[in-house]
Amino acid sequence: MAELTELKKVLAMSSRMLFNSGLVDYSGHISVRIPGSDHLLILPHPVSRAIVKADDMVVTDFEGKVIEGKYKAPSEVYMHARAYKARSDTQSVAHLHNHMVATLSMVNKPFYPASSNPGAFFGPGPLPLYMDPALIHTIEQGDAVAKTLGKGDAVMLRGHGSMVVAQSIEWVFAACVDLEEAASRFYKASLLGPVMVYNEDETQRVMKGRRKDSVVQKVWDHNVAKTKLAGLMDGI
Ligand SMILES: [Zn+2]
Repeated sequence: MAELTELKKVLAMSSRMLFNSGLVDYSGHISVRIPGSDHLLILPHPVSRAIVKADDMVVTDFEGKVIEGKYKAPSEVYMHARAYKARSDTQSVAHLHNHMVATLSMVNKPFYPASSNPGAFFGPGPLPLYMDPALIHTIEQGDAVAKTLGKGDAVMLRGHGSMVVAQSIEWVFAACVDLEEAASRFYKASLLGPVMVYNEDETQRVMKGRRKDSVVQKVWDHNVAKTKLAGLMDGI
């Protein structure tokens, strides 16, 4: 199936790009729904995110059970599986132990992404926060994260990181980049004084210019080039 082969390849590329952007290290993962099925493709548990190949990908069902693959699935596969189960519009999911978002999740202060243009990707209001700090190792925990996410694009996991969902691998990747950048700016601005969060009208206007295929493609293409220059795209 040519489509599946291509999806595995793009997933491997996205993993190396997330690694090159400092958004995943030895853990963290990205997945994609296999179109028209109740299955997903996800990075394998043991292989480095910096060198993972298309052939290494694991297929699981929406209960997190491995259907196909030579490796086991990541231990937090339930986060991905239940996000697809809960939302038919979700085509790709990333789970990051991203540093700035994890830092903001540790304080009792809401994080408003829409205080900067990258953050406007996520729309108005504070990012939802999943309070249980435990790793997501069961279907029930995966359901609870999906419930906290609601209809949003991202959820913070307290002291842990985040989960980001979107309509394609490229959109999830761009959202991951924007989320960490927005968190970094929010953190730094908070040190200087009260953050001037965009109002509803400002958010909508900036969002319009940000949430577009052309912008997502630009972020993607730049990171493909950057990751190639770093010598991390060979042997996909
Ligand atoms: Zn995790």
